[in-house]
Amino acid sequence: RAKDAGGNRYELADPDSDARAIDRHSLTNRLPAALERDEFFLEYQPLIRMSDGHVDGAEALVRWKHPVHGLLGPDRFIPLAEHTGLIVPLGRWVMEQAVRQACAWHEERNNAGKKKGRAKGKGKDASEGDRRPLRVNVNLSPRQLHHPDLVPDTVAVLEAAGMAPSSLCLEVTESALIGADEDELKPLRQLAELGVEIALDDFGTGYSNLANLRRLPATTLKLDRSFTRGLQQHPADPADVTFVEGIVTLAHALGLAVTVEGVETEHQASKLRDLGCDTAQGWYYARPGPPSSFQQGFAVLP
Ligand code: C2E
Ligand code: MG
Ligand code: MG
Ligand code: MG
Repeated sequence: RAKDAGGNRYELADPDSDARAIDRHSLTNRLPAALERDEFFLEYQPLIRMSDGHVDGAEALVRWKHPVHGLLGPDRFIPLAEHTGLIVPLGRWVMEQAVRQACAWHEERNNAGKKKGRAKGKGKDASEGDRRPLRVNVNLSPRQLHHPDLVPDTVAVLEAAGMAPSSLCLEVTESALIGADEDELKPLRQLAELGVEIALDDFGTGYSNLANLRRLPATTLKLDRSFTRGLQQHPADPADVTFVEGIVTLAHALGLAVTVEGVETEHQASKLRDLGCDTAQGWYYARPGPPSSFQQGFAVLP
């Protein structure tokens, strides 16, 4: 499918499924060394506030610079890491890096704001919104979710960086929470109580019933990009419009914000804004990139 081919630049390098089967084995074996040798790195994709186009935060997305196979996307190795359990130390590393990066951005922006204020001889120049710390979103896999160290590790990472819990958003897929009982939800609930934001990733692709939504400690729904795709057409697919409209209404009624993934065109962006979505992410605004792509003052994007 075009989604798989175009959606992940790194998949294109290896279309041969036999080679991939062999790879799985060697990739899996290589994972621990890769973590030790710093072969993983993060890219960041901005999250755009739809009301005014401000950058609200960024999602951290892990990549692997493999010495033989080159750049690998997370779909190639996260499932393997999840299977062996390496996802736990890898996920901890991702969170640490991402939180540190968010702090660095925050400092940069503060400094830039101070300089600007001095130059213009007034302090009230930047809007309040600009001074809020940038939020960073980190993906959690099911295995991390069920690991007893999740809460203490997260708290330790935030404290070490001196970052407010509300500047961290943990993304958990809806399917990872299906069937979770109250005990299994406890760590997420504890984190939410500390002020950490919780997003339900790829929302709409799982089988969770909507009543279940009420008992999850989520603060945001991230609507899967399969729904964004239907809005691409002229006119938009009425079924998708109705679905998004309904989800937005329900989410807002429950006090949840709605983020949309995979916004690739202006048409989709304006449609989704009209439908009441709060935040957007996608190639129309920016592709995932190095942290330096955020240094230009966290500009308003289209
Ligand atoms: P996700 O969390 O749903 O992340 C969004 C994916 O959509 C990313 O793919 C992103 O590059 C891609 N994307 C963003 N905008 C667009 C767009 O406009 N069009 C299209 N077609 N795609 C877009 P990526 O980076 O390949 O990541 C794939 C998945 O891997 C993520 O899906 C997430 O589930 C997982 N992942 C990434 N980093 C981590 C991590 O650090 N830990 C864990 N556990 N999982 C991760
Ligand atoms: Mg995500
Ligand atoms: Mg997602
Ligand atoms: Mg997704």
